[in-house]
Amino acid sequence: MEKNHYQGLINKYRQYLPVTDKTPVITLNEGNTPLIKADNLAKKIGIKGNVYLKYEGANPTGSFKDRGMTMAVTKAVEDGAKAIICASTGNTSAAAAAYGAKAGVRVFVLIPDGYIALGKLSQAMMYGAEIIAIQGNFDEALEMVIEISKNSPITLVNSVNPYRIEGQKTGAFEIIEALGDAPDYHFIPVGNAGNITAYFKGYEEFYALKKSSHLPKMMGYEAQGAAAIVRGERILHPETIATAIRIGNPASWKQAERARDLSNGTIDCVTDDEIIEAYKLMASTEGILAEPGSAASVAGLIKAHKSGLIKENSTSVCILTGNGLKDPDSAIKYSNAEVKKTKADLHEILKVIDLSEKISR
Ligand SMILES: *Cc1c(COP(=O)(O)O)cnc(C)c1O
Repeated sequence: MEKNHYQGLINKYRQYLPVTDKTPVITLNEGNTPLIKADNLAKKIGIKGNVYLKYEGANPTGSFKDRGMTMAVTKAVEDGAKAIICASTGNTSAAAAAYGAKAGVRVFVLIPDGYIALGKLSQAMMYGAEIIAIQGNFDEALEMVIEISKNSPITLVNSVNPYRIEGQKTGAFEIIEALGDAPDYHFIPVGNAGNITAYFKGYEEFYALKKSSHLPKMMGYEAQGAAAIVRGERILHPETIATAIRIGNPASWKQAERARDLSNGTIDCVTDDEIIEAYKLMASTEGILAEPGSAASVAGLIKAHKSGLIKENSTSVCILTGNGLKDPDSAIKYSNAEVKKTKADLHEILKVIDLSEKISR
């Protein structure tokens, strides 16, 4: 193995993960994602402190789900599995399909018909998953795949699979290594609540190893129309434009509350309008396109700042869970951008550019 060739998070963090030298690692070189300093965004929001965006859209299938999937599929293969199954709002199916293709196992994905972004569906199709769209939502799909995996030799790779959490906790390791310590605040979208659980586990483990001086406050944000944890009850018909977090009965509900309580953090919700505002702001101020579900973390940062929850000179990290290219429909719909059409004629083009207006943003 080339010493300087990054070979994915299992190889990087194997001493903290449930693998041995004999484990057949299934990797697409996931992890090691950019932690981008977002000074323009911080200034625009009015935050006097450091804001970083952890761009998980840079993973091989474009979302953080790859971190969990490399572990889940690796362990499934180690245990002799020939097939895997998941319920998905889109990104889990894309990741399962890709890692399943790499491993050479059959992949079954259950998705809510009509509620998954185009890019995600196209990924599952190209990677060769067997796709089943149900007339129901994610929560119903999850109940069914749990039932199927109990009664047949198909391994469940949703985040109720503990290996998913193990892989995903490495995001916290990367943040601590990049910053030299844990941040003060960790903002994250909450759907099924596996990721907030995983990050907190990672922070707890590195804190116990004295690699950080404190735990960050875990700041989780559900979409208002799917805010089961905030409201304290299962939502039967969750609704939000952020389809990745359109989940009304989070599987890791209790663990998310534990992360909130032990870190003195919060689990709150943001409206679709707040999500869209954050989605556009990130793109226009930082040049970062993340999907609407991801924007819930930045919407949460804005909301927390307005409520005076962010101390001056503190460090906040927002997890941008998925790549904005997965959902071009939302990008086109909410950008309000106008495409100016003209003849292929220099004079006409210069008229459109209109140099009499000042050239700056
Ligand atoms: C899966 C997903 C989430 C939600 O993560 P959970 O672990 O289910 O809370 C958020 N954003 C994106 C883009 C996702 O794919």
